[in-house]
Amino acid sequence: MKISVDRDECYGSGDCAYRVPSVFALADGFGTVLPGREGDGDDPEVREAAEKCPSQAILLGE
Ligand code: SF4
Repeated sequence: MKISVDRDECYGSGDCAYRVPSVFALADGFGTVLPGREGDGDDPEVREAAEKCPSQAILLGE
C-alpha cells in the first residue's frame, strides 16, 4: 500500500517521524516519506502512525 502525506493537512507535529523514523521524517516543516519507503503502507507501525496522526494527513492507498 502506498503512503503519502497531504501537506494541506499536515502541520508538522513530527509524530510520524518520532513513531516510525525508518519511514517518516520531517522536512521543511512537514512530515515526509523517506525515499524508497513509499510502498510500506502495509507495515503495522505505519498504519498506526496514520491512525494517530493528529491531523489525519497520512494517506494509505493503492
Ligand atoms: S504526524 Fe501527521 S501532522 Fe504530524 S508531521 Fe506527521 S503527517 Fe504531519
